[in-house]
Amino acid sequence: MSFFNSIGPFVEAALVVGNFKTIVMQPKHVDVMEWVAFNMFDFYQNLNLFYGVLTECCTSQSCPAMAAGPQLNYTWINQDRKSVQLPAPTYIDYVMTWVQNLLDDENAFPTRSGRDFSPSFPSTIKHVYRQLLRVFAHLYYAHYPQILHLRSEPHFNSLFAHFLAFGKEYELLDVKDVKGAPNAPAGIGLLWERWKEMGILVS
Ligand SMILES: [Zn+2]
Repeated sequence: MSFFNSIGPFVEAALVVGNFKTIVMQPKHVDVMEWVAFNMFDFYQNLNLFYGVLTECCTSQSCPAMAAGPQLNYTWINQDRKSVQLPAPTYIDYVMTWVQNLLDDENAFPTRSGRDFSPSFPSTIKHVYRQLLRVFAHLYYAHYPQILHLRSEPHFNSLFAHFLAFGKEYELLDVKDVKGAPNAPAGIGLLWERWKEMGILVS
């Protein structure tokens, strides 16, 4: 069964047309950096919960590469700045550990009010966003049947649509990352197109 056939009937689960634009808007009197930091923390926590439930089926045997499409495997840049193939669970573990450490770092993510965000915060957050997008892309591509089996697709779709709408609003999202390359399309590119057609995501 292809990815698109398997998502077909479930793609609309729990998605309400037009509400994502509203929920991503920054509340009045809230600093934009704080709003972005707060939401990224929330996306990370929720994605981590989903991944926790799926770890049993995401192993180095089932997922020897960080795949997000038939021709698309993400590579990790290691300490020597070399691009390496990793099994998906290793890749995801690296991403989640890296993000958790950033969230715990008061210099990167100040939690006490009155502390300033560092000038590198916008580029850090963009990088975090991109890596979390890859985790979503792998889970959709490789584990959607299990998400369906767990009846988690309404929550997972809502979380991802919220994540995309948020990324679009705050310019964290690069559409190239969602669609993949023409010769190596990403599975989530289909969702992106469908949700835009349905008016769930405003382009
Ligand atoms: Zn996997």
